[in-house]
Amino acid sequence: MIVAFLGLGAIGTPMARHLAKPSLASKLRVWNRTAAKAAAFAAEHGVTHAPTPAAAARGADVVITCFPVSRDVEALLDGADGLLESMARGSVLVDCTSGDPATSRRIAARLAERGIGFIDAPVSGGVAGAEAGTLTVMVGGDAAVLERARPALESFGKKIVHCGPVGAGDAVKAVNNALLAVHILATAEGLAALKKAGVDPALGLDVINASSGRSNASMNLFPERVLSRAFPRTFRLALLDKDAGIAAQVTREQAVPSPLLDLTSELLKEAHRALGEEADHVEAVRWVEARAGAEIRS
Ligand code: NDP
Repeated sequence: MIVAFLGLGAIGTPMARHLAKPSLASKLRVWNRTAAKAAAFAAEHGVTHAPTPAAAARGADVVITCFPVSRDVEALLDGADGLLESMARGSVLVDCTSGDPATSRRIAARLAERGIGFIDAPVSGGVAGAEAGTLTVMVGGDAAVLERARPALESFGKKIVHCGPVGAGDAVKAVNNALLAVHILATAEGLAALKKAGVDPALGLDVINASSGRSNASMNLFPERVLSRAFPRTFRLALLDKDAGIAAQVTREQAVPSPLLDLTSELLKEAHRALGEEADHVEAVRWVEARAGAEIRS
């Protein structure tokens, strides 16, 4: 199987590393907008560095994209050097971007006119999950198309779930990440208040984590990244802001009143504006702390 991987970012790079393993019966080509990253990856792993997306895609059975937003994928479709011209009939575009369902449906329809399959296949599990090859992959699209791409997905994914038609994977991912955002913001607000009330945040977290208010944020993110003040940069706040916006759009499209998710999206936009493009998602806590006038540390 020939696989092309486009987009060697924070999560794309460890995903592509699994596809580069010699044990896998696949040949890998990589392309990245900043060519130096793809050149370094190719040299390190002994795979092909493609100079353009089309050069990577031509003759490939599976083309995987992992960009910030669906529009970045859509922008690569057209032109003599676009994916529509270069991908072969019968091949599959697997979009691992945490995308938006409407754009994914548009992309799928255009590819289908050329006999090219499409699945939206966003992932969860973070950079650590990508490195370990234990990502969850949420797939939208035809089951038969998923089967054609499955060997590539299995190299980095442990749980591969067919969620429904094109866009369903994007929708599930967006709702998951909106819940992550709710938990980060709400936990920060609560712990800042406890700190001001004279309770040690570490003690407060310890109690919450043995009680019913716990979440992945309280159990893992706050102890490892907030109390320690480490705030490692693994997943940009800008991307979580985008995901919360997609979730709010999904609830609007389905006419579901969603004041909590709408407010979460608004707050993340504010935090993103205040902290900039490179801030990590957990740094939204710093924004809550600044407004509260309290730091969540012992
Ligand atoms: P990064 O910002 O680290 O990397 C983005 C990648 O996309 C880079 O390779 C970048 O190229 C490329 N890129 C950006 N804009 C364009 C464009 N217009 N055209 C072509 N290439 C472009 O993002 P992540 O790797 O963190 O995230 C990628 C996707 O995965 C996002 O949708 C995100 O929401 C999702 N995701 C991320 C997780 C994480 O933990 N990081 C976890 C789960 C999902 P260049 O090197 O030139 O900048």
